[in-house]
Amino acid sequence: MATPVIAIANQKGGVGKTTTAINLAACLTVQRQNILLIDLDPQANATSGLGVEKTPGQSIYKALLGEVGVENVIRPTTYKRLDIIASELDLAGAEVDIARADNYLHRLKESLAPILEQDRYDFIFVDCPPSLGILTMNALTAAESLLIPLQCEYYALEGLSVIIDLVEKLRTSGTNPQLHLEGIIMTMYDGRTNLSQAVVQDVYKHFGNRIYETLIPRTIRLGEAPSFGKPIIDYDRQSVGAVAYLQLAKEFLQRRGSEEARSFPFQSESPIAEAAEAQAAQAEDREELPE
Ligand code: ATP
Ligand code: MG
Repeated sequence: MATPVIAIANQKGGVGKTTTAINLAACLTVQRQNILLIDLDPQANATSGLGVEKTPGQSIYKALLGEVGVENVIRPTTYKRLDIIASELDLAGAEVDIARADNYLHRLKESLAPILEQDRYDFIFVDCPPSLGILTMNALTAAESLLIPLQCEYYALEGLSVIIDLVEKLRTSGTNPQLHLEGIIMTMYDGRTNLSQAVVQDVYKHFGNRIYETLIPRTIRLGEAPSFGKPIIDYDRQSVGAVAYLQLAKEFLQRRGSEEARSFPFQSESPIAEAAEAQAAQAEDREELPE
């Protein structure tokens, strides 16, 4: 089965897309999932938030234009089971170049094709920029599903119909018939305010169980972690933010039913998996994130 590609998108800025991309990815590695995170935002916040250097030429840019194979731009992070395709400022110019290319909505899909059949990753996440421009459209064309982080604030639902309608259009037009809503993650939840609770209830009325039960709290530690280039479980394992994202990773897997899927026929504790892990650990001295 091809590796699921999941776009993390919301055209609104600052709603927690990158924080969710980094921390959901990191917490899924704790669940023994191999993850590739693609930073498709020229702001490169996911790149710096994972402590990865921005190196000119080392982004998805050239792969999108078909100038290099995607394998050449995948880089390891300091964490086991977590690889990244970093971003760089050049990606800002990529929109213009891609717009001129043939089949411009399918550039990401085509460039990812070689790794999707390899079984190398369990999930590929794409952190999108805060717009519905060509880069986000490429992510939505390549993706099997869309994960929407929604900030617990008064105007949370405003604009949501735009991206939901876009998903519908991409599906019905045949551009990406399989695209669906993976789920909605409520971020920056403040349980002390009635507003946060009211917003969650409101969103629930519209989207029901498409909302994750795990709410991501607003915490200072989650805001601090990126400036240290660390996911929250490395920056402060005991913090409520770390607990929340670990819980979200579990819920994500439960909802996808992939824990069952992975336990058959090769359990993650099987000798084969263990041997492969031991080899991988020897090959590269990467840090194991705490459970
Ligand atoms: P952009 O649209 O610019 O890409 P984004 O949707 O990716 O933004 P983030 O960068 O994840 O949003 O978050 C915006 C800001 O809020 C960042 O400074 C981040 O550290 C902070 N932040 C995100 N989630 C939380 C949280 N749960 N608690 C506290 N601060 C948070
Ligand atoms: Mg971002």
